[in-house]
Amino acid sequence: MTSYQKRLRRSVLAFVIFMSVLSCGLGITAASAYIKYQQTMRIDTPSANQLKAVTIVDEWYLILVNKWNPIPDGYKVTLTNLRNGQAVDERCYPDLQKMMDDCRAAGLSPLICSSYRSQAKQEKLYANRVKDFLAQGYPEEEAKKEAGKYLAIPGTSEHQLGLAVDIVDINKQALNSAQEKTEVQQWLMKNSWKYGFILRYPANKSDITGISYEPWHYRYVGREAAARIYEENICFEEYLQSMS
Ligand SMILES: [Zn+2]
Repeated sequence: MTSYQKRLRRSVLAFVIFMSVLSCGLGITAASAYIKYQQTMRIDTPSANQLKAVTIVDEWYLILVNKWNPIPDGYKVTLTNLRNGQAVDERCYPDLQKMMDDCRAAGLSPLICSSYRSQAKQEKLYANRVKDFLAQGYPEEEAKKEAGKYLAIPGTSEHQLGLAVDIVDINKQALNSAQEKTEVQQWLMKNSWKYGFILRYPANKSDITGISYEPWHYRYVGREAAARIYEENICFEEYLQSMS
């Protein structure tokens, strides 16, 4: 081997070693960048469960409306008219109809006495209720507060969504706590979840729902949520809390 060949071989060897070190270094840099990226992603990206919860809460039938969460501006509802002048969001109508049919098939006489309400209707009902308390001698602020316990302040009623119905026994239509004893309520409390409806304002959850016990007000939340709310004996707010 000539000295030229030796030099050439050393140069080639040096070049190969240089390239190996370089590519190895690049590899390590790329690998550590990837690990860093993954770590960042792990911190910043919501978990699969969180994503699922966000998606579920976005469902139309899981919209939360209470005194702390008014109906969003410009909320639109397409109504289906019922036989007795009542109306509901067309999307919950099939389940509502099935529930009413099955309740009647059980030999009972349920009657929907309230359903969709416009803002104007809710305002009128609320004003009347305030007037009742004023007539009983309550000062104005107290009268409003008392009225708000039994009737949602306009803009915060689920009835304005078209997803809530008040159902009574045709033989006993008074909206008071005695309603829970009627056969219709007994049947609804036991079965409404199968059709996606929940008893929205249970007796022991008023501090969470903001509304007194109403053993006649049923809210459509879809079958999956209704089943869990029924099984776990929780209210809608607690259910949504558990999903977020
Ligand atoms: Zn109601």
